Amino acid sequence: MEQPYYKYSHFLREKYGEKTYKLPVNLPTTCPNRDGNLDSAGCYFCGENAADFEMLPDTMSVKEQLLENKKYIGERYGVNNFIAYFQNFTNTYLPLNKLKNYVQQAAEVDGIAAVYFSTRPDSISDKYISSLEKVIEQSGKNINLAFEFGLQTVNYHTLTSVNRGHTLAEFLDAHLTAKKYNLETGAHLILNLPGDNMLDVRESARILSALKVDHVKLHALYIREKSIFGEKYKKGEIDLISLEEYIERVIVFLENLSPDIAVQRLLGRAPGNETLFVNWGREWWEIHDMIIKEMNKRGSYQAKRFDYLDGKTLKKFR
Ligand code: SF4
Repeated sequence: MEQPYYKYSHFLREKYGEKTYKLPVNLPTTCPNRDGNLDSAGCYFCGENAADFEMLPDTMSVKEQLLENKKYIGERYGVNNFIAYFQNFTNTYLPLNKLKNYVQQAAEVDGIAAVYFSTRPDSISDKYISSLEKVIEQSGKNINLAFEFGLQTVNYHTLTSVNRGHTLAEFLDAHLTAKKYNLETGAHLILNLPGDNMLDVRESARILSALKVDHVKLHALYIREKSIFGEKYKKGEIDLISLEEYIERVIVFLENLSPDIAVQRLLGRAPGNETLFVNWGREWWEIHDMIIKEMNKRGSYQAKRFDYLDGKTLKKFR
């Protein structure tokens, strides 16, 4: 099946010249939206273990986790080049010295080409980035530092209503700070948060394109049993869009997205046993194939409607 979008695997191959896989790392950390710093309820869609269902225990050191995952993933997929991916909760929400130590451990593992942090945009700063850059520099290795920021939507009304604890402003700040150091940035989005509509989806693609983020990861909202949304769902208080509408939203998003932004996923995965609703009861790859099939059928592709930047109104004078 022809892929009508810029796949993240191609981005990695272009960047590193070979197949490169992420090795997840589970840090013993939490989140400022859960520990009382901002709030203690967390985002309403977040389960009590955040996203750790495929992770090694956080009691293992960073180095131990990377070595174990490298052995497994390296052998299984025949890969020698890796990204240390700090994935769960808010990975930069730690005292700087601890974080530096974790990066140093990652840099000591052979085959690590990059260290990625998945984090909240309000949990990174100029000082943190420059210090982490120094740790990598001191390792003497050619390792990239990169950030994936949880944005979820650009609609600040929706961000407020899901108790996110930040708005678009913090994302802009985090992205621009990372770009000052010429670092790769990515954004995580949920395309069907209650309260958002197609215009929000389109605007998310347009804002990320104008900002020139390097990649995006799309998710469909899933409902974890132990979450505020889980409680609301059981009471019938959450309206979820249909699968057809989700497919439409992904297509609109991709058509408005810059061709230079790589796409990591079109929807996420969740553990079935602790989840009340996930991907309309289908496998993620089934929906992925439905989206691709629909795009190919319509002649749709990423950036089909990417015509709105660089003085759109001046084009008539050309
Ligand atoms: S920022 Fe992430 S870890 Fe924190 S509450 Fe929200 S979803 Fe959960």
